[in-house]
Amino acid sequence: MYRTHTCGELRLENKNSEATLAGWVQTVRKISASLYFVDLRDRYGITQLCFTGDSIRLLDENPLGREFVLQATGMVNERSNKNANLPTGDIELLVTSFKILNKSAVPPFTIQDDTDGGDDLRMKYRFLDLRRNAVKKNLELRYAVNRAARNYLHQKQFMDIETPFLIKSTPEGARDFVVPSRMNPGQFYALPQSPQTFKQLLMVSGYDRYYQIVKCFRDEDLRADRQPEFTQIDCEMAFVEQEDILNMFEGMVKHIFKEVKGIDYTEKVERMTWEDAMWQFGNDKPDIRFGMKLLNLKKPATVYSDKQDQPALISGADFKVFDEAETVLAVAIPGCSEYTRKQTDELTEWVKRPQIGMKGLVFIKCNTDGTYKSSVDKFYSEERLKAIADAAGAAPGDLVLLLAGAEERTRKAASELRLEMAERLGLRKKEEFKLLWVLDFPLFEYDEEGNRWVARHHPFTSPKPSQIETMINNNPVIENAAEYLKHPYATIKANAYDMVLNGNEIGGGSIRIFQRELQEKMFAALGMDKEEQLHKFGFLLGAFEYGAPPHGGIAFGFDRLCAILGGSESIRDFIAFPKNNAGRDVMLDAPATIDDKQFEELQIKLDLKN
Ligand code: ASP
Repeated sequence: MYRTHTCGELRLENKNSEATLAGWVQTVRKISASLYFVDLRDRYGITQLCFTGDSIRLLDENPLGREFVLQATGMVNERSNKNANLPTGDIELLVTSFKILNKSAVPPFTIQDDTDGGDDLRMKYRFLDLRRNAVKKNLELRYAVNRAARNYLHQKQFMDIETPFLIKSTPEGARDFVVPSRMNPGQFYALPQSPQTFKQLLMVSGYDRYYQIVKCFRDEDLRADRQPEFTQIDCEMAFVEQEDILNMFEGMVKHIFKEVKGIDYTEKVERMTWEDAMWQFGNDKPDIRFGMKLLNLKKPATVYSDKQDQPALISGADFKVFDEAETVLAVAIPGCSEYTRKQTDELTEWVKRPQIGMKGLVFIKCNTDGTYKSSVDKFYSEERLKAIADAAGAAPGDLVLLLAGAEERTRKAASELRLEMAERLGLRKKEEFKLLWVLDFPLFEYDEEGNRWVARHHPFTSPKPSQIETMINNNPVIENAAEYLKHPYATIKANAYDMVLNGNEIGGGSIRIFQRELQEKMFAALGMDKEEQLHKFGFLLGAFEYGAPPHGGIAFGFDRLCAILGGSESIRDFIAFPKNNAGRDVMLDAPATIDDKQFEELQIKLDLKN
């Protein structure tokens, strides 16, 4: 036995008893020639060791350094100078004997909450970074989320079933990582982007409630805060409709809130169609912790919705910018009517930045005295300004901001502006959690490069039953690329859903196609001929002939869910050994070249193009 207690365990009730601790030396403080304090740390906490008398001589003979591994035995003593910030702060261990179990080189950064180590250094020495309390807390939270999810799913009769990592390419929209096969020269496995087809096969096999907390691999260019390998809580159910899935999994997320954060999320989880999300919030994962809905002042060209189509409010005023723009969106910012010229100029500069890409910004100040002032006073009477402001939901004291331009860019810019203003106004509170289901996603997306339809979620997602005919009875070919929106496919909605938490997509799934014929039609709609269908998905089409039950599922982004619950922007903080933005593991220095012998065994010759 190396220890009788952990470094976080001893309390006043252990006073006058002997204890042995083992851990890492956090600090050594020499108070005088006859008194040393050493803070000893392990996963559970820190305990102060007190060296006096005889033990000092031993210490002088065997000097300690930071991060040395130490075993110390002594009597638990009540401290005269208590530390209320430390759970063990009432006591100390009066050391009678100790042993250095291992020495340590001087660590390249301090093992403290506020470390002096930069990102790169901490990643290179991640095993030391993981000793820091701040990182440890994140991993503990991750484990708590994992446990809560498992407990909930287990209670609901879900079975955790492992699926293989070495599989065949099953495209889900991203690029596959591939692994050469030595035993089958010239052939490659792919690492799964998700266990999608396996979980569907498990439904055919009768395991009607499956889950797995599983690694997924996608070889994407790493946009901010993505990892090439990430973890999903992957789930599938048979004999279910969309409503069953929504209920089951909002239950799971509520259970996680309760277990991990102690939050009773008793409100109903809001629901919104994808179209409403796009027009009212400018994106498909709205942050609904605050209002500030967008007002659409023009007839939509691409995302269909007439609900906010109010062109009369701005037309006929000879204001070219609005007249000529494809889209004009307004958003009311609460309590900002008294913005100075400097502040509105700064906002204008903000929307002109290349990342936002707008040409300018129009504002209407809804003064508290009931008057309206605007940067377009020349074109719009006060009455008209009031009508626009009212339609945008502005109250006296608010500032209405208007953006005009091409539809997609303007919608994106309005969404960014709304989020930025909410951030500045402190409306995006980390400890407030708001869940939302976004429903009725489009089934297809138009791929300009290939002039073809691609599946927006994945090719196994079923169309809304009422629109199956539209899919079957229309030729997928797009004659005129510029007019793809007139193609009937653009109107088909899917039985697909995303769960959104505080403006982040935390989960997504769909009700699946489960008939061979419809699945073949779907593949054909995506431009796959019979041969390709059989080559890529013959196993699934075949399985659908042997009594496939109706089924559907969802997968949650486990890393992201943990990050949000931990109040962090970065999923890397919640992964023990993450990769950097270039997809590298800087600790292992991977990826790396392999030996010639390995190439030989694989019968592969390297011939890099550039
Ligand atoms: N496999 C899907 C994904 O990874 C999730 C699902 O449809 O269940 O996004």
